[in-house]
Amino acid sequence: MYYSTYGKPSKVSNPLMDKMVIFAADFLEIDETIEIDFEDHEDGTCGFCDYDLEEGITIGINPELSRTEICKTLFHEMVHAKQYIRGELISGVGKAPSRWLGKEVTGAYMDLPWEREAYDTEAAMWSIFSNEILKKPLK
Ligand SMILES: [Zn+2]
Repeated sequence: MYYSTYGKPSKVSNPLMDKMVIFAADFLEIDETIEIDFEDHEDGTCGFCDYDLEEGITIGINPELSRTEICKTLFHEMVHAKQYIRGELISGVGKAPSRWLGKEVTGAYMDLPWEREAYDTEAAMWSIFSNEILKKPLK
């Protein structure tokens, strides 16, 4: 797979970025090209994932986060990328509800099935990545 970054903060080295993206792509079996934009989020969110048939996957990450949080946020958004690529999640346009596995779903953020999967998978990925791939802890 191929990825590009924009605005990557210097605290995230190129080798670390490679390790994070390659691990996540392998874990989630993603082969699509991904653009990762580090940009400030004035609303305080950590990240987002957009999927467009023509533009592909764009992941946004708040560069102010710590390296550990950047890594976890990347894993979380990569889970959403996987959900979009496989058609499990289809974002609602305008006020239309999003669809999950073919059904319209609304509810509180933390109850949304794609968020539950993203948080659960992010935690599992972080556990493996931090214990088995990183040689020393991130600060
Ligand atoms: Zn999410």
